Amino acid sequence: MTPNTPTPPIGRWVYDGLQQCSYSPNDTPASDCNQPATWHILWGPGDEHSLACTDHMAYVDRSYTYFDRHHVCPDCCMPDAVWLEIEKRCIYPDHPAPALAVARAINGSQP
Ligand SMILES: [Zn+2]
Ligand SMILES: [Zn+2]
Repeated sequence: MTPNTPTPPIGRWVYDGLQQCSYSPNDTPASDCNQPATWHILWGPGDEHSLACTDHMAYVDRSYTYFDRHHVCPDCCMPDAVWLEIEKRCIYPDHPAPALAVARAINGSQP
């Protein structure tokens, strides 16, 4: 990260299990956006991440830089979920990988 690529100030901890936009201009519950999030944003190579609605993703695009993002999926913000940069989603580690699930289904249909 360089001074030319600002990330927004990371505010207070906000429960993200409802997958709501965490934009909060005053960093208080009263100023929370709370719209359904459509984007999951990873700010840097660490684990600081946020959820944003479509409007606030547009605001982020105009105002800040980020490391990666993807559309919100069911596993986003699950405890211990893993961010998959190439697949552009989060995955809960206990779930079988889709390729493996397909392979199992194909094997299971053979005589
Ligand atoms: Zn929002
Ligand atoms: Zn995610």
